[in-house]
Parts: sequence; structure tokens; C-alpha cells
Amino acid sequence: MLVDSHAHLEMEEFDGDREAVIRRAQESGVDCIVTVGVNLEDSRKAVALAERYDTIYASVGVHPHDVKGIDETTYDLLRELSGSGKVVAYGEIGLDFFRNLSPKDLQIRRFGEQLELAAELGLPVIIHDREAHRETVEMLKGRKGERGGVIHCFSGDYDMAARCLDMGFYISMPGTITYRKSEMLGDVVRKIPLDRLLVETDCPFLSPEPKRGKRNEPAYVAYIARRIAQIKDLSFEEVERMTSQNARDVFGIKAETL
Ligand SMILES: [Zn+2]
Ligand SMILES: [Zn+2]
Repeated sequence: MLVDSHAHLEMEEFDGDREAVIRRAQESGVDCIVTVGVNLEDSRKAVALAERYDTIYASVGVHPHDVKGIDETTYDLLRELSGSGKVVAYGEIGLDFFRNLSPKDLQIRRFGEQLELAAELGLPVIIHDREAHRETVEMLKGRKGERGGVIHCFSGDYDMAARCLDMGFYISMPGTITYRKSEMLGDVVRKIPLDRLLVETDCPFLSPEPKRGKRNEPAYVAYIARRIAQIKDLSFEEVERMTSQNARDVFGIKAETL
């Protein structure tokens, strides 16, 4: 069994065939999917999906792209949503200095506020970091949350990974690890212990080889686990077992529900 630790099944890209996508995931041995909100509206949809399917869990929060839409009611509504028993994390939150769809200073302020909210709610965090490695590490150093978290779609070097591991975070690998030019990520995967790695699709984005150019979906998370097994010279089953265990540990998902 595999866990897709980061999907966006609530997005409109899946409106036409969501049921079939979820069935294909189950048929491919993906027993658990964490579907991740990027704003209030999508967080609502993520929780509704999680409440409908045993194998789906939800995360709620506001993505750095969307933080300009936060108003005085947003955090209260997210707090309310997190009361669902299927919400296992807060996020995705963080910094995206690649696209800068929200102003930098606002991204930093909202990231700090949401780290505090996650700590208050007692939830682990799912962190998005694009072209903001230094600032992300700085922000995480100051956080007070007792539950750990995941650096999703990891794109830093080994030095950054080591800092995140030191702070107790897990590192999640997306489809980019299957791309031929991913030497730096390969180096990270080779060096960090398997008991700190997660796998994710980030679907509908970032399809792994050999599905590049098509819409991504949870069933394809196996390609990522297979590539990690190759890089670390381990069996697929070992990577499958450990990454699932890690996801269960960080999100507090019991094995019998998988
Ligand atoms: Zn992200
Ligand atoms: Zn995402």
C-alpha cells in the first residue's frame, strides 16, 4: 500500500471523473490520500471529499498564492473546518517567491499567522516553499507547534534538507524526482534516511515520467516510490512500507483505517 501525502482532488480538473480517479488509486494500491486545500473554498471541498471517502483525509489552509484573499473571517472559518475528524494537517502554507502571486511581505506575514494557528489547533503543517528556501527555514525555526510537519514538493539541496530534518520535519518527494535533470534531488534522496521521506503526486500538477504532459493523479505515486527505490538501491516494497508508515506517523492516521 502507498500513501499519496499531497493531492488536490477537490480541484476542478477532477470534476469530470473524480470517482474514477479515486477508484484507479485504490486499484493501484494507493490506500490513503491526503487532499490539500489552497484557500478557504478549496479547503471546504477537501473536507467534504474526505468525509465521503474512508481512504481520503484533508488538510486546510491558505497557499501563499492565495493569501491576498484572506479577510477577517477566514481564520475562524478554517478553525471551524478543522474540527472535522478527517482533517489531519494544516496547509499548504508557506512562501512562493517564484510566482509572487501575493506580495512578498504579505506572504511572510500570513505564513507566520498560519503557523501560529496550526500550533493552536495542534495540527502538523504542510509547507510549500518555492524559491524561498532561506526565508522558509527562518520562519520554521521560530515556530512553536509541537506536531511536526512536511516540506512538500521539496526543491532544495541536501543542506536545506538537513536543516529541515534537524527541526523534525519530513521531506516529501513529488514527480520531479523522476525527471532526468533532477540530480540535486537525487542527491537529497540518496542522503536522507528513508524513515523521513514521504511520496506525493501534488496532482493535478507535476506528473511523473512516463506521464509527463498529462494530468497527474494519485495512482501515479507508484512511479515516484519506484524511482526512490532505484536511487536508494532498496526494494519497492521497502519504500512503499516506510513512506506509508512515515505519512501515518506525521499525520496521526491509524493503520487500521488504511
Ligand atoms: Zn505546493
Ligand atoms: Zn499542492
